[in-house]
Amino acid sequence: MKQTILRTEDLKAYYVLDLHGTQKVVKAVNEVNLEIRENEVYGIAGESGCGKTTLLKTLFGAIEPPLRLMGGRVLYRANGDELDIISLGSEERRRLRWEFISYVPQGSMSVLNPVLQLKESYQDFLASHASGKTKAEAVEIAKQHTIKLGLPRNILEAYPHQLSGGMRQRVTIALATILKPRVIICDEPTTALDVVVQRGVVQLLKDVQRNLENTIVIVTHDMGVQANIADRVGIMYAGKLVEEALTETIFAAPFHPYTRYLIDSLPRFGDKTTRGSVPGSPPSLSNLPSGCPFHPRCPYALNICAEQMPELVNLALSHKVACWLVGEGVYGKAA
Ligand code: SF4
Repeated sequence: MKQTILRTEDLKAYYVLDLHGTQKVVKAVNEVNLEIRENEVYGIAGESGCGKTTLLKTLFGAIEPPLRLMGGRVLYRANGDELDIISLGSEERRRLRWEFISYVPQGSMSVLNPVLQLKESYQDFLASHASGKTKAEAVEIAKQHTIKLGLPRNILEAYPHQLSGGMRQRVTIALATILKPRVIICDEPTTALDVVVQRGVVQLLKDVQRNLENTIVIVTHDMGVQANIADRVGIMYAGKLVEEALTETIFAAPFHPYTRYLIDSLPRFGDKTTRGSVPGSPPSLSNLPSGCPFHPRCPYALNICAEQMPELVNLALSHKVACWLVGEGVYGKAA
């Protein structure tokens, strides 16, 4: 079994919004317990607005208003110690990020300065993260790194607007991996890319992970991307982790009704029948239903579902589910 490199303990990340004098608490991440291992790709999937991006930000220790961390810990095993990125002072947190973690945000334009050539963005990055390098040395490091990752030789001379969306995303990933982080946190890295370009970006991430033997935590609602890259997948619903398993298991034998809907809605080659989708709408994270938050949409709901949230329990080795149907032997009768 590979060693755990990142784990969370009862992590809660809430937004506290002030709406004309009335406070609203949005429970974006609600008591999430994760254990992510060295040298694995861990995928996080779920509908838009289920708290995936907030979870990633919290893993990176980026807690800025209106996001408030209301509880729990985010522990990295770095150099033999377990460090809680949330409780570190700002300087120690910054050092842990520089030496250990990298973040690939949604949308490459938020990372690359539009008025700088890429080589200048790389220079700036290396100047702030790996001090002591001259400009010429920084450009040479960036050049060798981008060539190694299969990017065009003259790419560093370009400005961001001269590149396609897919190429910009690959440049962003190259930038995020130049210091060989042990953990890379990726937020929807293939959003808004066509499938061919998506494949190139996913392949780049796989190559990086294979070369560095590091850990990637990737959020995407695209189950096709999860199937392609993740070793294990965690399914989020309304701020909670509701199922977690090896990727093959999630696709072959999903248990949680919500996961089943996600898998069943995927198109299948040669199958022209209409795919089913999850009934109803996602709940408001500021006004969650009682009990299991999926119960208003769940055709299998039992009486207890509206009253108590089930614990995440082991269904089998490496397969955890939070659903009252566990132990019922068979699926309940659909309502
Ligand atoms: Fe459905 Fe109940 Fe399971 Fe929630 S706990 S998914 S409502 S059966």
